Amino acid sequence: MNIPQSSFSRVVIIGGGFAGIALAKKLSKQEFQVVLLDKHNYHTFQPLLYQVSTGGLEPDSIAYPIRKVLQGYPNFYFRLAEVLNINTERNIIDTNIGPLKFDKLVVATGTETNFFGNEELARNSMSMKTIPQSLNLRSLILENFEQALLTDDLHEREALMNFVIVGGGPTGVELAGALAEIKKGILPKDYPDLDTRRAQINLVQSGDRLLPAMSEIASKKAEDFLEELGVNVWKNLRVANFDGKKATTNGDTIFETETLIWAAGVKAVTIRGLDGENFVSRSKRLLVNQYHQVKGFDHIYAIGDVAQMESEDYPRGHPMMAQPAMQQGENLGDNLVASLKGKAPKPFNYKDKGSMATIGRNKAVADLPKFKFQGVFAWFVWMFVHLYFLIGFRNRVVVFINWVYNYIKFDREARLIIRPYKQQFKTDR
Ligand SMILES: Cc1cc2nc3c(=O)[nH]c(=O)nc-3n(C[C@H](O)[C@H](O)[C@H](O)COP(=O)(O)OP(=O)(O)OC[C@H]3O[C@@H](n4cnc5c(N)ncnc54)[C@H](O)[C@@H]3O)c2cc1C
Repeated sequence: MNIPQSSFSRVVIIGGGFAGIALAKKLSKQEFQVVLLDKHNYHTFQPLLYQVSTGGLEPDSIAYPIRKVLQGYPNFYFRLAEVLNINTERNIIDTNIGPLKFDKLVVATGTETNFFGNEELARNSMSMKTIPQSLNLRSLILENFEQALLTDDLHEREALMNFVIVGGGPTGVELAGALAEIKKGILPKDYPDLDTRRAQINLVQSGDRLLPAMSEIASKKAEDFLEELGVNVWKNLRVANFDGKKATTNGDTIFETETLIWAAGVKAVTIRGLDGENFVSRSKRLLVNQYHQVKGFDHIYAIGDVAQMESEDYPRGHPMMAQPAMQQGENLGDNLVASLKGKAPKPFNYKDKGSMATIGRNKAVADLPKFKFQGVFAWFVWMFVHLYFLIGFRNRVVVFINWVYNYIKFDREARLIIRPYKQQFKTDR
């Protein structure tokens, strides 16, 4: 990997997500040699992926070069690499670009979509965890309408315009709201010769309320907002399988659709060598103590979504959200710096700053520690918070301008099929 030897202790961080970046920033000016590895050369702001999928934002505005985040810091090395194996006895990781020895290892690999072992479902469904996946979804949605315009078969046309989103968490709710706004504001103008009123957006939730991690009032209001926008909300219904044409459920309901978006589960991204049953929870998260050390190791840590720190307040670990990931990265950074000075580490204490979800224009729900509110104000707060946490000044400006433009013009101009998804549209090879 061409990383020079150093008299400083080498900290290898796997993953440049919210947790990995927060930690790297804390360590970058300290007496450590920091090596950050990621299989992408950019950080992804996942909370806005749904806007890329629905043409509201260009992908560049929610991605940021990892090298730029830590530019100019001495003793810092980034390598574009996928980590394949961890040898916990020899303190070596194996990657697609070669091995690397570590003194301390931090796993911050996040999560991936969980299809719970159903391979047919995995093969035929769309996920929305990465920028390439969001671009695939954007292309597929638009290609479906192009195709719907061409077919004389009413049945096929309806299936092409029938969207099924599985999972009533924030991702499902936000995506359903955005699709409903496209149906209402954009499709009739883009496709005047297609009866786009027949397009259906279905949101399927296995439990009895949407946004189960938020308050009852937020769930209720989100459902009201979605229904106002014309989304069909299905509760207490589970999608069992999808063969690419038909989605079956645990009830009598069958959806005939060409597009099923799976937002109903994630599992931690573990790496071979550190995936043993004694330190991995049911959701594959790495069990860590309150100092982020993986069970059984004192020099291997896990932070962010991949880590499960069980406590009285959080018996199943912290929520898989950006805030806990960032706070864990910062806490571990402070503790490693303290160790240089011979100081004792501080146990992690999560400060819950609340959660929010947006459903559409002027429609959001917010549960803050002291207040719960919904509607226009929540929508403005949601926008402000997302702009604040977005990395990079340019990205903030671009996103802000896009939002203002979209708001004034009722538009989403990034509805481009740049990377066709369906075979028949791949004409420019
Ligand atoms: C669609 C969507 C919407 C969301 N909305 C919100 C929201 O509104 N608010 C909120 O707080 N949270 C939201 N989240 C959750 C939030 O994004 C995650 O909790 C957060 O990203 C976790 O940070 P992390 O650092 O643990 O992992 P990630 O940010 O996922 O970063 C993991 C990194 O590890 C890299 N990686 C993985 N495996 C390897 C490997 N083997 N080798 C090298 N690199 C590897 C990946 O490329 C990635 O860069 C959303 C998530 C999604 C998918």
